[in-house]
Amino acid sequence: MSSDLAFIGAICALVALAGVGIPLLIAQRNRRIVAETSSALAALHELNGRYAASVMPLPVITRRYRATTTSKSAFDRFRLREFLMDALLDEETRLAFDIDARLERMRRYSAYTNELTDVGSRSIGRSGDRRVNPEKYSRIERRLFHKEMLTAPTPVATVAAVVTYTSPQGRNSYRRDLAWGFVELRAGLDEARRQRAAKSTSEYLRRRERSLLTPKLRTDILRRDGSRCRICGASADTGAALHVDHIVPISRGGRTEPSNLQTLCQSCNLGKSNRFVG
Ligand SMILES: [Zn+2]
Repeated sequence: MSSDLAFIGAICALVALAGVGIPLLIAQRNRRIVAETSSALAALHELNGRYAASVMPLPVITRRYRATTTSKSAFDRFRLREFLMDALLDEETRLAFDIDARLERMRRYSAYTNELTDVGSRSIGRSGDRRVNPEKYSRIERRLFHKEMLTAPTPVATVAAVVTYTSPQGRNSYRRDLAWGFVELRAGLDEARRQRAAKSTSEYLRRRERSLLTPKLRTDILRRDGSRCRICGASADTGAALHVDHIVPISRGGRTEPSNLQTLCQSCNLGKSNRFVG
């Protein structure tokens, strides 16, 4: 009795297995035939062979920069974004190299997809085999073509900056985070480089303006102003130390030319300092 049941059970299992298994075997056979006979797939493999090495994704760019402050007010004032940009500039060469290498892979990949489109439109649907129904053949061919395309080497970066402050005895902890992906990293490094270039340009211009105030020009201005402070009238005769001063300071775009220069005594000059309001 129990052996009869076991026998029936075994038959049922076999039927079920065949029901699932035979179509599976047929599908496998069809895939193999398409893979062996499709000119589109052959062209794709040739293309993949030429590009595979140069479009392989590169590792994630990972950076983590930490800062701690010694007071809560310094923590509040801490400029995390500037801190991060300075840190990036410190390893600028390396980062620029890593970024460029990844962009180059994307350029190669775009050349690959151009060729891929050509290959696809030229050869998909052009092959067939009498052992496989044409409609089924073309469906399998398309599916395999898509499956075997190389994937894009999309660059990935995880760049983080963290500033923390812990109060004495560790009573309170504060923390701010900044997280950048590849796009922000690339833009951030560009911005940091531009800012540095602008800064050095303006520093250069200031140095140049200062150097234009020659001993000769200084003497000319003192003579023009009668060797007297233009604010209080003190003169060298009464013991005042006279300076030639920029009316609009160089730091605010003032030029070194007679119309922007004046004679001031030391105390008027120090009192003035950078209080110019333009
Ligand atoms: Zn004065």
